Amino acid sequence: MKPDFKKYQDGLVPAIIQDYKTSKVLMLGFMNQEAFVKTEETGKVTFFSRSKQRLWTKGEESGNFLNVKQVLLDCDQDTLLIKAEPEGPTCHTGADTCWSEKNHSDDFLMYLEEIIELRRKSTDGKSYVKSLFDKGINKIAQKVGEEATEIVIEAKDNNEELFLGEAADLMFHFIVLLRAKNVSLQDVIYVLKERHAHKG
Ligand code: AMP
Ligand code: ZN
Ligand code: ZN
Ligand code: ZN
Repeated sequence: MKPDFKKYQDGLVPAIIQDYKTSKVLMLGFMNQEAFVKTEETGKVTFFSRSKQRLWTKGEESGNFLNVKQVLLDCDQDTLLIKAEPEGPTCHTGADTCWSEKNHSDDFLMYLEEIIELRRKSTDGKSYVKSLFDKGINKIAQKVGEEATEIVIEAKDNNEELFLGEAADLMFHFIVLLRAKNVSLQDVIYVLKERHAHKG
């Protein structure tokens, strides 16, 4: 399926670029037919730059290419949504998205993970999360083990409120452990997605 490039007289179709892993909106550009074909052929997002008035492969100077993972057309074929894997920061300011740091993932767990990461880097002596990181990986892993035991206990009972509380404790400390190991929720989700893909 191709966009309807003839719908508007400038022959341009907006293309929303979204991070394939984090679902963050990275940038917006326009494509004409030539840019779209080049994007499909090279697997690198290529726009028609309205300011340069020529084809513009994002990353052509900076090396921060956007590698296409999935191309979606909207309901009436006049807007593209492209899921891509960025090779570096997408914005020319050096930020990962053109909407800077305020454009965090809509997913609350991802947001929470970012907050946890901020605490890890902070020097806030009162932060519980910071104190966990200071105690080290073994202590954090042990804490996950304790919370896992607590949810096992609550699973046997029929108190939904207590069960949910332990589920939240476990999830929270699980994210802390991931960060302590320098991996992210996205890395785990990626493994799950890959497994799912291989099962077909
Ligand atoms: P690049 O395509 O990353 O090699 O960048 C080439 C030039 O395009 C930069 O010097 C900027 O002028 C412009 N540019 C790069 N990224 C963006 C962006 N996300 N939004 C708008 N302009 C950009
Ligand atoms: Zn539309
Ligand atoms: Zn930008
Ligand atoms: Zn607990």
